[in-house]
Amino acid sequence: MDNPLLDDQPHPAFSRIRPEHVEPAVETLIAEGRRLIERLTAATEAATWDAFVQPIEEEDDRLARAWSPVSHLNAVMSSDALRAAYNACLPKLSEYGTEVGHNELLYRGYKQVYDTDALDPAQRKMLSNALRDMHLAGVDLPPAAKARFKEINTELSRLGSTFEEHLLDATNGWHKQLTDEADLAGLPESARELARHFATERDLEGWVLTLDVPSYLPVMKYAHCTALRRELYEAYTTRASDQGPHAGRWDNTQIIEDLLALRHEQATLLGFDNFAQVSLEPKMARSTDEVMGFLEDLAHRCAPQARRELEALQTFAVGNGGPDSLEAWDIPYWSERLRQSQHAISDEELKPYFSLDRVLDGMFQVAERLFGVFITSAAGETDTWHPDVRFYRIADDNGELIAQFYLDPFSRQRKRGGAWMDVCTNRLISACRQQLPTAYLVCNFTPPVNGQPTLLTHDDVQTLFHEFGHGLHHMLTRVDYPAVAGINGVPWDAVELPSQFLENWCWEREALDLFAYHWETDEPLPESLYQRMRSARNFQSAMQTVRQLEFALFDFRLHLEYDPAQGSRLQQILDEVRGQLSPIQPPAFNRFAHGFSHIFAGGYAAGYYSYKWAELLAADAFSLFEERGVFDAASGRAFREHILERGGSAEPMELYVAFRGREPSIDTLLRQTGIIGLMPATH
Ligand SMILES: [Zn+2]
Repeated sequence: MDNPLLDDQPHPAFSRIRPEHVEPAVETLIAEGRRLIERLTAATEAATWDAFVQPIEEEDDRLARAWSPVSHLNAVMSSDALRAAYNACLPKLSEYGTEVGHNELLYRGYKQVYDTDALDPAQRKMLSNALRDMHLAGVDLPPAAKARFKEINTELSRLGSTFEEHLLDATNGWHKQLTDEADLAGLPESARELARHFATERDLEGWVLTLDVPSYLPVMKYAHCTALRRELYEAYTTRASDQGPHAGRWDNTQIIEDLLALRHEQATLLGFDNFAQVSLEPKMARSTDEVMGFLEDLAHRCAPQARRELEALQTFAVGNGGPDSLEAWDIPYWSERLRQSQHAISDEELKPYFSLDRVLDGMFQVAERLFGVFITSAAGETDTWHPDVRFYRIADDNGELIAQFYLDPFSRQRKRGGAWMDVCTNRLISACRQQLPTAYLVCNFTPPVNGQPTLLTHDDVQTLFHEFGHGLHHMLTRVDYPAVAGINGVPWDAVELPSQFLENWCWEREALDLFAYHWETDEPLPESLYQRMRSARNFQSAMQTVRQLEFALFDFRLHLEYDPAQGSRLQQILDEVRGQLSPIQPPAFNRFAHGFSHIFAGGYAAGYYSYKWAELLAADAFSLFEERGVFDAASGRAFREHILERGGSAEPMELYVAFRGREPSIDTLLRQTGIIGLMPATH
């Protein structure tokens, strides 16, 4: 069969890809990969990079190149047949991945190359990552320990999905019907519509509120009725626990206990003291002390301002007919009222200044001025999946082509929501291949209607800059080995640096002057509107920071301090963290941990701190431009050279220090989030 997924073209032939091509292509490439690894690992004594590692890397890249357009199309142009083909391949790919990760002969071959070949630093980093990941997967354990390790893996994945199922069942298992419209007082029209829709769906009169976030959040933020907020708050914060309206049903208590015990056991099988150490192995943070120090120092310095912010909120509430003592279910509601009274700024006021084409043009100019690259449209130069899709080239200042990207800006039927960047092709330069990186940038903006261009909210503009930051990290790479080129091999506590870093330019007058003009009058964004935008940016920033730190410290301590003799001490650690940090103590029935799927069902175990860590890096990196000018070319080039071009080819702290001249400092993070006037912690 002529299969476009197996064609060796620079870019996928999107218009020719059919669902029936998917499985045969994936099966062919997996079989080829197996044969290659089998042949190469038959004799590993004299393995070298060129004869052993490079061929495997190129074969992996073939599979990645075939799979990328499939998973991309499944996200942006889905059909039932394509989804079926995609789903049929997932277990095959995951089985193949596990098999390769557990291949002892491959491990031995990599080790041989690592120990004996003369490698460049990027090659060395790629191999040390591979050896580390295989070690963490248990490849070099003695037989009995390895068998136990695998058994635990199976059990962990079962527990993770049960945790998630319980949470889902508990979320879906509760709703509240309202028949008197007066009870909905305060709710915006969109939330009422959703509540009517939920009622119709259930053949009920009136309105139905649920624990789904789009239904729950507007109630917490806008509903005037305190009893209603309290009722939803209790139902939401006791999901899948021993408390609340469904106490004991779908209870995650034992699952959490088992997950923590098994993670700890795996850590000890690998020779670590605890699971927090395992989590940090592939990350930027170098030790558990470093993470705890960072979180506690930040917490210590934010706490006083968080208390002041809460006091201000309390005063505002009392002055406006609110309760004398705010409860947990009052905070979002009164915060929203305070925000509106202080910083009333609506999306509608700002949107006319952010027309899509102008924002794109401005964003490309920002990249040009900072990084010395030139972005031009290459419409019509390649096959795409939809007429709305645009295609661009990125060239260096000498005109040399560096990378290309697709932009799929508008929402449509059968396209997944949200915005993201994904890899189409990796940079791969070898004796037999010269392949440049290509990215997909996907957004879901409203298509232009009635001669009016697409107008973005300021949030949309930030999202666009964010994803473009990821895109530049992928595309400006100078690393020739796919496994550590671009965003590949970048630890996930460091991978948000370029994206969050670039968002800063949406807030700077000098940058906004490149693109924020009224689409009808061409008038620049008025200074008064700009100042209101800036002042709203850091509203209650200390309270929000403290909340994130509470999650991060709870997650990290839970995994760091686990002791098999005592069990998880879940509530004790949670209470300690809250006692130390929170300006407001949640009610005793609150079972926040039972719904914390990031760490119990997702990949964030002992890694939730990454969110704040990434903010620290982005704020500290941007502070160089605050010192030297928003468009300081030398600093922009340094960021390109040390961060964007190097990708995953070196330790991220090393790269960061090469760019910034020092390690990141939390002072800059505090200053940028408007938390000021505090001395560094003395402990
Ligand atoms: Zn991101």
